[in-house]
Amino acid sequence: AASLTVVVQVFPFADDQSLLLAQDITELQRTEAMRRDFVANVSHEIRTPLTVLIGFLETMQSIELAPDQQSRYLDLMMTQSRRMKNLVEDLLTLAKLEANSKVAPSTPFSVMAEMGALRSDAEALSKGKHRIDFSVESAHALMGEQRELQSAFSNLISNAIRYTPEGGSIQVKWSVAEDGYGEFAVTDTGPGIDAAHIARLTERFYRVDGSRSRDTGGTGLGLAIVKHIASRHHAQLQIVSTLGKGSTFTLRFAPERLDVVGT
Ligand code: ADP
Repeated sequence: AASLTVVVQVFPFADDQSLLLAQDITELQRTEAMRRDFVANVSHEIRTPLTVLIGFLETMQSIELAPDQQSRYLDLMMTQSRRMKNLVEDLLTLAKLEANSKVAPSTPFSVMAEMGALRSDAEALSKGKHRIDFSVESAHALMGEQRELQSAFSNLISNAIRYTPEGGSIQVKWSVAEDGYGEFAVTDTGPGIDAAHIARLTERFYRVDGSRSRDTGGTGLGLAIVKHIASRHHAQLQIVSTLGKGSTFTLRFAPERLDVVGT
């Protein structure tokens, strides 16, 4: 707010022009603040697993561990290393998406054919702890970039599995809505998300429950990635959730993005 006043005083433009300039500067300040936050977040996310790793390595250097204890340490070190690898991979994905704001190329991607692979990945992640249901109600292919669409879909499915307690159920559905939009919807019977959090979920590193997210292997970047992929495909990400009941995350694709397979 301070620099806003300075700018208005220094340039005796007409009212609307000063206002325009002042808005530009607050926008720049906001961008700069977001960049600083992002660097601080990334540093923190990398430092934490590194600190744990160094701690274990120091212990192993200084004392002789019993074989079972040693293997437990190695498992924990592997978990932390994987966490850093996932974070770096998500950061690279996000950087690539952010550098490329162009509309995604339009090649037909058969959602129906993809469902098998999505299902086996989901089952591997769930380890039999959830009831998982896949349904394909439309034969339409989606025009877009295959790898990005796969990544957006599997991000939504893995969130549903990671946040839904054992015994819950997850439903994945591909259909065309009455308004002609293609809908890829993932519904879970998980904890649900409070309305106040929903608008912020696609911000980088925004988490409702930080420790729960990290425990389940989350990087905090999944929905930011999904949002970018959606916007490159002119798709909307719709989130409907009820606390204590569960959530539905839907990617809605405009009718122009749909293609009837085989015609
Ligand atoms: P994370 O790696 O933390 O899962 P995401 O960007 O994928 O990062 O999600 C951001 C936050 O949104 C999560 O930390 C979690 O709090 C919340 N969230 C995402 N999906 C779900 C879901 N299906 N049920 C409940 N909360 C969810």
